[in-house]
Amino acid sequence: MELDLAGKVVVITGAASGIGRVIAETFARSGSIVAALDISETALAEFGSAFREQGWPSGEYLCDVRDPQSVTRVMDEVVARFGRIDVLVNNAGINAEGLVSDLDVDLWDRCFAVNVRGTFNTCKAVLPTMKAQQSGRIINAASFAAIMPSVGASAYAASKAAVVQFTRTLAGEVGPWNITANSYAPGMVPTAINGFAELSEKDQAAKLDMLALRRWGTPDDVAKVVCFLASDLAGYVTGTLVDVSGGKFSTQVPSA
Ligand code: NAD
Repeated sequence: MELDLAGKVVVITGAASGIGRVIAETFARSGSIVAALDISETALAEFGSAFREQGWPSGEYLCDVRDPQSVTRVMDEVVARFGRIDVLVNNAGINAEGLVSDLDVDLWDRCFAVNVRGTFNTCKAVLPTMKAQQSGRIINAASFAAIMPSVGASAYAASKAAVVQFTRTLAGEVGPWNITANSYAPGMVPTAINGFAELSEKDQAAKLDMLALRRWGTPDDVAKVVCFLASDLAGYVTGTLVDVSGGKFSTQVPSA
């Protein structure tokens, strides 16, 4: 069975680095056209040269997903250049650490502004195009933190739970136009968003002991699931949350 993603126009937020970058490369290898949105000008420029070197068709767009005007302008530019938007991947997200008693309200707001308001902004902005096409795939990054309590990450966990429920609700609203909306929950993938790679060996082992598969997730693990959700294979999947955490438990899982 083929994923059949060749020629699809795929908008990915936060595409310039981390998991988003690998999602973008995976779509590009499947023949998709990638519109990469990111807030980092430097990372976007590097992304553009790497994609050109590979001969992968792409467009780079400086965009802060928190800002509805910036998002709408970019989506208009993407449609003017590539003619359509088949897939939207809301990958951009930020972390916010701190116990509730210490957490600054501005950090809480920033976290919700990127993770929740940003997701709302991009979804709203692609709907006129997807409705006119009578097709579309919306795929939103949640987290295992949306499923289980994450002490010290209340803002992040609550924001990702909001993404899951927003996505489920959106699925019901857009289904009649043949648009699907799903979210996915990565587990522990060492990137700039977290300090997993810098933890002591003992702390890393303790975290890995809570994963059924006993290894960190990779951006590639996540990208494969996103591509599946964008493909024809997932044409009848909507309103769901796909767990791609390697089996994350709140306590240690037994050894083999
Ligand atoms: P990352 O920090 O490595 O990359 C995030 C990207 O988003 C960066 O390129 C950044 O410039 C961009 N970005 C940040 N704010 C933005 C904004 N306002 N507008 C546009 N772009 C913006 O993070 P990552 O680890 O690759 O995470 C990607 C997604 O996966 C996030 O939504 C994150 O919450 C989720 N996730 C990650 C993990 C993990 O372990 N890494 C676990 C669960 C969920």
